[in-house]
Amino acid sequence: MAVQKQRITILVPCYNEQAVINICHDKITETITPLTDYDFEILYINDGSKDETLPTLLEIARADPRVTVIDLSRNFGKEAAMTAGLDYIDSDAVIILDADLQDPPELIPELIRLWHEQDADVVYGQRISRLGETWFKKFTAAGFYRVINRISRVDIPMNTGDFRLMNRRAIDALRELREKHRFMKGLFAWIGYKQVPLQYHRQPRAAGRTKWDYLQLWNLSLEGITGFSMTPLRLATLFGFGISLFAFFYGAFIIINTLFSGSDVPGYPSLMAMITFLSGIQLMTIGILGEYIGRIFNETKGRPLYLIDKVYKP
Ligand code: UDP
Ligand code: MG
Repeated sequence: MAVQKQRITILVPCYNEQAVINICHDKITETITPLTDYDFEILYINDGSKDETLPTLLEIARADPRVTVIDLSRNFGKEAAMTAGLDYIDSDAVIILDADLQDPPELIPELIRLWHEQDADVVYGQRISRLGETWFKKFTAAGFYRVINRISRVDIPMNTGDFRLMNRRAIDALRELREKHRFMKGLFAWIGYKQVPLQYHRQPRAAGRTKWDYLQLWNLSLEGITGFSMTPLRLATLFGFGISLFAFFYGAFIIINTLFSGSDVPGYPSLMAMITFLSGIQLMTIGILGEYIGRIFNETKGRPLYLIDKVYKP
């Protein structure tokens, strides 16, 4: 009897990727065809694309029996799309790839090699260069990693995205994490186990457009920080404490000063400065509280992370 081959799923979330999806599929096929020691399944998640992505995917699926397509009921975001895929698969390992070829499919054999050689639970891609990205984006990204690793207990590896191989154990662990606010880099790191980096040069997008603008990146950073740290809340307390202390001594100074040299009405500029400074801090603190409360609100609704419209299986 033949030994059961290990099954590996290539998971590709797709949102408006009609321009690259065919190239992407060709690249993947080209890489996995020589790897005959494994059974491959390619799972495309159509995350509510508004272009011709779904028909293109279905055409690919018709020609290639290894392909499954899951069509979500609308656009839920990459995190939810990946989660839908991870929930669906039952293979021995998964490899998550971006459709835009920024995570080179050529590295699939390397991921598999490290997985076995180092007996790793997770092999994650770590970018040693980011081609086609502005210095501003690189600079802000570096700042973000510094902040989040300072203030959270989970070590989030720098320059790491979703590109990775995970074995069964890691997939199952990740499935346990059902929070609505999914900062995937954080969740991937949270599970722990043996995680091994694979360094690579990140390519610019093959075609199509990035779905991230700076506002979304700002939101993603907030997601990461509020999801993995309570430090901002503590900072608010600390601010309040510091300012009260200052106010106490300042008050004492004013009283003593008035007792000895009488009251002098001037002081309007300093008064205004104090008021505006304090209202600024108060508003910021309320904002921080709001960020956390909003997240509690979203979690309590208990909605599912995504809805599947249809699964197209060979
Ligand atoms: N993606 C998705 N849903 C979204 C946005 C993006 O499934 O709402 C997919 C997209 O098709 C691609 C991957 O996530 O395969 C990465 O997206 P993108 O290239 O826009 O992000 P970047 O590489 O710029 O971080
Ligand atoms: Mg990309």
